[in-house]
Amino acid sequence: MDLIIRNANLPDGRTNIDIAIESGRIVAIDHKLPARAVQEIDAAGNLVSPPFVDAHFHMDATLSYGLPRVNQSGTLLEGIALWGELKPLLTQDALVQRAMQYCDWAVGRGLLAIRSHVDICDDRLLAVEALLEVKKRVAAYIDLQLVAFPQDGILRSATALTNLKRAMAMGVDVVGGIPHFERTMADGAESVKILCEYAADNGYRVDMHCDESDDPLSRHIETLAYHSHRLGMQGRVTGSHLTSMHSMDNYYVSKLLPLIREAGVAAIANPLINITLQGRHDTYPKRRGMTRVPEMLASGIDVAFGQDCAMDPWYSLGSGDMLEVAHMGLHVAQMTGQEAMRACYRAVTETPATILGLEGYGIQVGCHADLVILDAANTIEAIRLRAARLTVIRRGKVISQMPAAKASLQLDGRPSQINFRLS
Ligand SMILES: [Zn+2]
Repeated sequence: MDLIIRNANLPDGRTNIDIAIESGRIVAIDHKLPARAVQEIDAAGNLVSPPFVDAHFHMDATLSYGLPRVNQSGTLLEGIALWGELKPLLTQDALVQRAMQYCDWAVGRGLLAIRSHVDICDDRLLAVEALLEVKKRVAAYIDLQLVAFPQDGILRSATALTNLKRAMAMGVDVVGGIPHFERTMADGAESVKILCEYAADNGYRVDMHCDESDDPLSRHIETLAYHSHRLGMQGRVTGSHLTSMHSMDNYYVSKLLPLIREAGVAAIANPLINITLQGRHDTYPKRRGMTRVPEMLASGIDVAFGQDCAMDPWYSLGSGDMLEVAHMGLHVAQMTGQEAMRACYRAVTETPATILGLEGYGIQVGCHADLVILDAANTIEAIRLRAARLTVIRRGKVISQMPAAKASLQLDGRPSQINFRLS
């Protein structure tokens, strides 16, 4: 045996579990395994989780905050315009360097699988080349899945559809789209049809930015579900953002949710970004803008939380911390019940792993030995504390360590060391 992790608490609530690892895979999970291993790690009643998965990110834009200037209005549209100003200034070296820095942060946070959109509207496809290079460089420790994202719209931009197909031929994994940004509702619907048919014909997954708007009449998710169902793409199609659903008429939503479920379309909310960008045209009351997460979960739809942005034209903060994402999602969706909080943890682990189609993900015999030991007893405490990732393991090898968060108090008669955990 290469490694045994002892005394682990698992996300499903089991406690005092030992996990045995050999040749990069989990080979046994049980109470008090009698086996011995070359290396043993005592998890000491801490949560041992499969790694965090970010199903929605933009690695081509990350860490470019302030280049060439800061987003003054804070809106999505100014962010897109700003990105348009930045694009001609990008160099491959700078793109790779920023993405690699972000990937280092991700590893430190136990984030070992990322689906990143990459803008294909620059005819040079510089960002595509850069992120394919990054994908290769980080492959040993991060599963990086790329989505060909036509930021300027495949019908609105003259070369976007050609570029998207070029990007797929170069090795990009997933077909993207942005129907709400096309010139008209009809063009948006047409773009969904074109992209879904192209993906179905070529066996690709689909993940579109869909209805990232406060317009209650932006209903491209209906079209996405329709084509997903028609083309037999159940389980391979995702609608990202879906913020217009926040503002939709309740009666219409009551018809829409079963259609999404029937079509096997998954949803990705991006709580940090949605709460920041949406509702910007409102005075008061001001809409939150995040999609209807608890309602979709209750309808049997897979919902993940994505990070979307970290220090880029759209968002000035972020550090690759999926617990911060889950924490914000929990608050914005008011998912404060015990089971709802646990669902928020699944939305940054198991559910996005399913959306990405990751092989061997999870804590079961036969799965990859990709694990994170957190400074928390369970998933709810992990979210509450945005708990330190004490040890990050990939394929059975420790790849990152972080000290527990502790404070040394100088108060008479009080314990000197506290760790913010209820014990
Ligand atoms: Zn996005």
